[in-house]
Amino acid sequence: MGLPRSQFNKILNIIDQRRLKNQQEHQHRKDTVYKTMPRIHEIDVMISSKTLSMTRKILENPSERETISMNLQEEIRSLSEKKRQLLLDAGYDADYLSPIYDCYDCHDTGFVDNEKCHCLQKEIISHAYSQSNLDDILAVENFDQFKLDYYSNEIDKSSGKSPRAIAERNYKICYSFASDFGNSYQNLILHGQAGLGKTYLCNCIAKEVLDHGSSVIYLTAFNLFKLLENYRFHNDDAKITLDEIQAIYQCDLLIIDDLGTEINNAFTTSELFSLINSRLLDKKPIVISTNLSPSGWSNQYSDRIVSRIYGNYLSLGFVGSDIRLQKLLG
Ligand SMILES: [Zn+2]
Repeated sequence: MGLPRSQFNKILNIIDQRRLKNQQEHQHRKDTVYKTMPRIHEIDVMISSKTLSMTRKILENPSERETISMNLQEEIRSLSEKKRQLLLDAGYDADYLSPIYDCYDCHDTGFVDNEKCHCLQKEIISHAYSQSNLDDILAVENFDQFKLDYYSNEIDKSSGKSPRAIAERNYKICYSFASDFGNSYQNLILHGQAGLGKTYLCNCIAKEVLDHGSSVIYLTAFNLFKLLENYRFHNDDAKITLDEIQAIYQCDLLIIDDLGTEINNAFTTSELFSLINSRLLDKKPIVISTNLSPSGWSNQYSDRIVSRIYGNYLSLGFVGSDIRLQKLLG
């Protein structure tokens, strides 16, 4: 997953805090129990001093390492058993003084055998939600909530199909794109007039892909180019970090909403080409939504951009009448 180093460090910090909190709680339990049950304190002191003396003995007689450690393990086992019994008798859990972890698989380190633990993966996903620019919308808009009722059943003369049939096909393609994400490589371009559900489906895709643990960045074309422009030309205070720009190039899925509404100039054209081309070479998918028709793409963008879209994007046309208007009219 393409996660910039600084963001990854922030997540590791969350795991560190968790470990620290548990260590403090563990210490607090020991302090409380030692006060009322000095015998337990004595046992713990014995265990640590025995461990220490074993280390010393092994250093002095490395060849007898196994015998020394076997004898010691036996002594520690019997001391621990005594301690457990004392705790039980006093009404505590037998494990009350054992180390505490949120995740027993990695002991709150975030890693098992140098691989990311599931608890770290989960933290990365929830971080990805907040980074996608979508966390408010995603709670509401997802594939389960998509309604075909808003699309007419009447056959459209130009395509010979009803808007509903077309919407259903588009829905299915978007759904399988999202649920199969990571297993196959595909780019999508959703085009058609405003208010036909393109943005809605983009949100559904984002949620599904995020829920499967991949990183998603969602930007309207306007905000995307504003961000790139500010980074290149108005970033003396370094407000926008290189990490943020790299994330646009490297996140698992980039969604560009409303392409065609940005101010079109030499800068945006070259940035768009660089982005589309770089992600294409890296096999990192993009989903584009646009109000422009395929003939409109050629008017607005250079041939090399259009040819890359034609050659590498599955094009999904939307037809019908404005859904937002229908929702308003009830
Ligand atoms: Zn873990």
